[in-house]
Amino acid sequence: MPKYQPVIGLEIHAELKTESKMFCDCLNDPDVNQANTHICPICTAQPGSLPVINKKAVESVIKTALALNCSIPDSAKFDRKNYFYPDLPKGYQISQYDLPLSNKGFLEINGKKIYGERSRTIRITRVHLEEDTGKLIHPSKAQYSLVDFNRAGVPLMELVTEPDIKSGDEAKQFCEELQLILRYLDVSEANMEKGQMRCEVNISLKSEKKELGTKVEIKNLNSFRSVKKAIDYEIKRQADCLDSNDKIIQETRGWDENKQKTFSQRIKEESQDYRYFPEPDLPPLTDLAKMNNQISKGIPEMPDQKRNRFLEQYKLPEKDIQVLISNKKLADYFEQVVSELETWLKIKGIEDKDRLIKLTANYLLTELQKLLSESKTRIENCHISPENFAEFISMIERKEISSSAAQTTLKEMCQTGADPSHIVESKGLKQVSNEGEIGKIAKEVIKENKKSVEDFRKGKENALQFLVGKVMAKSKGQANPEIARDILTELLKGVE
Ligand code: ADP
Ligand code: ZN
Ligand code: MG
Repeated sequence: MPKYQPVIGLEIHAELKTESKMFCDCLNDPDVNQANTHICPICTAQPGSLPVINKKAVESVIKTALALNCSIPDSAKFDRKNYFYPDLPKGYQISQYDLPLSNKGFLEINGKKIYGERSRTIRITRVHLEEDTGKLIHPSKAQYSLVDFNRAGVPLMELVTEPDIKSGDEAKQFCEELQLILRYLDVSEANMEKGQMRCEVNISLKSEKKELGTKVEIKNLNSFRSVKKAIDYEIKRQADCLDSNDKIIQETRGWDENKQKTFSQRIKEESQDYRYFPEPDLPPLTDLAKMNNQISKGIPEMPDQKRNRFLEQYKLPEKDIQVLISNKKLADYFEQVVSELETWLKIKGIEDKDRLIKLTANYLLTELQKLLSESKTRIENCHISPENFAEFISMIERKEISSSAAQTTLKEMCQTGADPSHIVESKGLKQVSNEGEIGKIAKEVIKENKKSVEDFRKGKENALQFLVGKVMAKSKGQANPEIARDILTELLKGVE
């Protein structure tokens, strides 16, 4: 039993994917590159302007909360959280205090049968809705700062967990799984690098005496890796502190990516007084139960369910399943291809579908992914229809094309979206399995490579592979390599 047990709770913010901002008609565009273009009297807090609630944002939070097993009350309200900061035009943030949109849920991590590990349930305290702040820009060497209000009033979801997390790894897994869920639900892009998902860590150490220690908050973590690294670092720092009888100070610390260290940012003497009070300009949210029923019907299969189903249905290696699940569009594409193949298998009366599924996953996760990343194309914009991809796989299965011809074909399919049989036909890529034709080429190769023939006869196995390569090259990749190997072996036996 280690001397101290880490106690970790997370506070995670995610910008919601909506057309307009939380309380006005301004565009919610995370990719806008000109400052202060999507602003209006409401999100810049001009006197007399009044907010209006964005229904889609409310629905998105409820959808997420339901997916995270939270309970949704029948009514909720917004509150003002008062504080001063130059990126906060109103001098307060509209948030939720005592009646949030949801309470008490949980997310299972490590629960995937796939890992064969014991699952861990992390309780979720609440998921609520608020608005984002603007952004301050500090030009280097300048005597002033600039403020951009494009982000001010963007709908922001906040999720708080109970302090159930025990390690940096678990925190990272929680964040990764949550990101996936937000993407599956299509409520947020949840891109950490773009600040669309932001994780704050609260961490303390519990000693044998079983009492909770003083907690430290860590901010500006820009990747899941830094979430883990910062926690690992902080566990060690706090343990060293306790070992030398120093007091842990309740404070906010930042993460220095270069030094791989946390550093003190500000000391929280006592919790800040935000003087919360109910937002007088907004009506309470009522009749949520009705909304709730409607929304729960729209929740798709969640990543963990898909993971378990894929594992049973497709019998693929765990790491392949993880890659497929990590991109819902890729998983959907894979299933479309498999369903096309199943139709084909039924027609042909072929039983062994597992092998074809494996072949599909292999080509999808290696060759196709490579081509897509080279052309910076997302799977949803891929030119290859699932029908064509399935046909391509069936051609490999029928040995109509060799693996090198398959690569050429796939590349062409990616570029033009053309039918694979059409490409193979027009480029003359059909695999030659005709023994007479391959035999002719093999004889030539034997004549032209005396040295390798001799090596082979001396027992060098590599020489055979070299000769097979020559036959392949001479046939422009069209010879069936297995047949070429058999024929060469036969012929070499006869050569004296
Ligand atoms: P605060 O009022 O300081 O914001 P909260 O009670 O709202 O504190 O908790 C904020 C986050 O800190 C939650 O994620 C919670 O799980 C976590 N937390 C609370 N107490 C501890 C503790 N002793 N050690 C680590 N994390 C904690
Ligand atoms: Zn606005
Ligand atoms: Mg709090």
